[in-house]
Amino acid sequence: MIEPLLPDPPPVRCRRCRHPVAKGRLYDGYGESCARQLGLLPPHIPMPRSEQPDGPTLLDLLDTTEE
Ligand SMILES: [Zn+2]
Repeated sequence: MIEPLLPDPPPVRCRRCRHPVAKGRLYDGYGESCARQLGLLPPHIPMPRSEQPDGPTLLDLLDTTEE
């Protein structure tokens, strides 16, 4: 007996906003964004910007050599 091919399982949905969530990305049944809003996950920590800011940098201020 050949087993029939099973159709793809329906996408897992976040139980809060019913948004489809990629497999393995559920947090207690919630999508990542909802889990974050509910406090299940720590908020994103903003990464320091790597681009050069305007004006002198701290390294420039530390450079005390006279020219
Ligand atoms: Zn959600």
